[in-house]
Amino acid sequence: MTEAEIAQQYTRVLKTRLGQWVQAMVVKEPQSESPQIIWKGVGRMLPVRALPENVETARLTALRDRRFFRNCVRCAELRPPSLILSEGICLECKGILFRPAVAA
Ligand SMILES: [Zn+2]
Repeated sequence: MTEAEIAQQYTRVLKTRLGQWVQAMVVKEPQSESPQIIWKGVGRMLPVRALPENVETARLTALRDRRFFRNCVRCAELRPPSLILSEGICLECKGILFRPAVAA
């Protein structure tokens, strides 16, 4: 995946009356029957009328936050840390399908 696709899949933008907030996906128990998805705000809130390109930039910047994203040692793509197994390899590289039912 490109970084834009990773940002699309693992971040979202929450729009409130106060502004737009980029949030990163946090996955709990990704290999269980029912993985839990929660979203955590990253960085500061953008203005309500932030330009789409600025929102996109903020989503890509969120990928740089090591609390929320790590690189797989095999494919080098960024994933939420819980989707990277103890040896540093992501679930996809391990052949494990992870497709959370995201209620956006
Ligand atoms: Zn990988």
